[in-house]
Amino acid sequence: MVYGLDIGGTKTAFGVFDEQFRPVETTQHPTPDSYDAFVGLVCALVLKADQRVGTRGRVGLGFPGVLNAEGRLLAPNVPAIHERDLLTDLQARLERPLTGDNDANCFLLSEYHGGAVAGSRLALGLTLGTGVGGALIQDGRLVNSRRGGSGEFGHGPIGAALLARHSNLPLFDCGCGLSGCLETYVSGTGLARLYRHCGGREQTGQAIITAWRRGEAEAVQAMTLYLEVLAAGLGALMTQLDPDAVVLGGGLGEAAWLYDELATRLPAHMMRGIAPAPLRPPVFGGAGGVRGAALLTSRPDSPFSSPA
Ligand code: BGC
Ligand code: ZN
Repeated sequence: MVYGLDIGGTKTAFGVFDEQFRPVETTQHPTPDSYDAFVGLVCALVLKADQRVGTRGRVGLGFPGVLNAEGRLLAPNVPAIHERDLLTDLQARLERPLTGDNDANCFLLSEYHGGAVAGSRLALGLTLGTGVGGALIQDGRLVNSRRGGSGEFGHGPIGAALLARHSNLPLFDCGCGLSGCLETYVSGTGLARLYRHCGGREQTGQAIITAWRRGEAEAVQAMTLYLEVLAAGLGALMTQLDPDAVVLGGGLGEAAWLYDELATRLPAHMMRGIAPAPLRPPVFGGAGGVRGAALLTSRPDSPFSSPA
């Protein structure tokens, strides 16, 4: 048996998979506020699963952020685990091999194995959730560095041309310490920030989308900026990386209307004469991250991998 864990800003998903990576059970849990409570939750989930399946499952873990030179996790979106030795601590507590990689890498790995970008020579994944994650797979292998930081496309700056074209586009500070990162506009929190900037109240992304459909002026303004920034960001990635297929993840990545909106906007953000890459919705939906984390256990070249 193989276990997958997908750590998110609000929720942490845990899944049990068979050796063919078919799901046996998946559960979701609020991400605890403190580190000790977080480690306690993970250990309880894994040990209880061991009892149910009657063996010690291997563990794969998807984390938001990157590992620093000392192997410590840099995940400003999830304060409970930020700057902690999470993987080493879990490995010691669980007394078994553990494999870990960035959450967006896990998402794309899952969509590559039997999902939306299966078989693509160069596949790009972008997740639009609490944060914005990015990943690349070339010839079946994740493009990665030792820290797991390759493909941090959410922390690239939006283009100067875009800022010039939309005089009402503000420059936001990002949790990573930079300003103007793609994530500050096109994550779920980014949409809420744009809405407030356009005169709207504090609202969830879903409520803003509903208001946009009703034609509320603030929501229309915010969504126009949202879609323009997303199309420009994707257009730049498609132009520069030339992926054979692109899959979007996170809550918004599953919204069918987003693909129509992007199809009309993308050509304006591509190099002249170059068609946008095929853009696909995820096959595994919200379960992709946890499945990809389980898939990591067969990837000894992951950024964190303990000896078997
Ligand atoms: C982090 C990425 C992560 C993404 C989604 C970003 O803020 O930098 O590493 O993949 O959020 O969780
Ligand atoms: Zn940033």
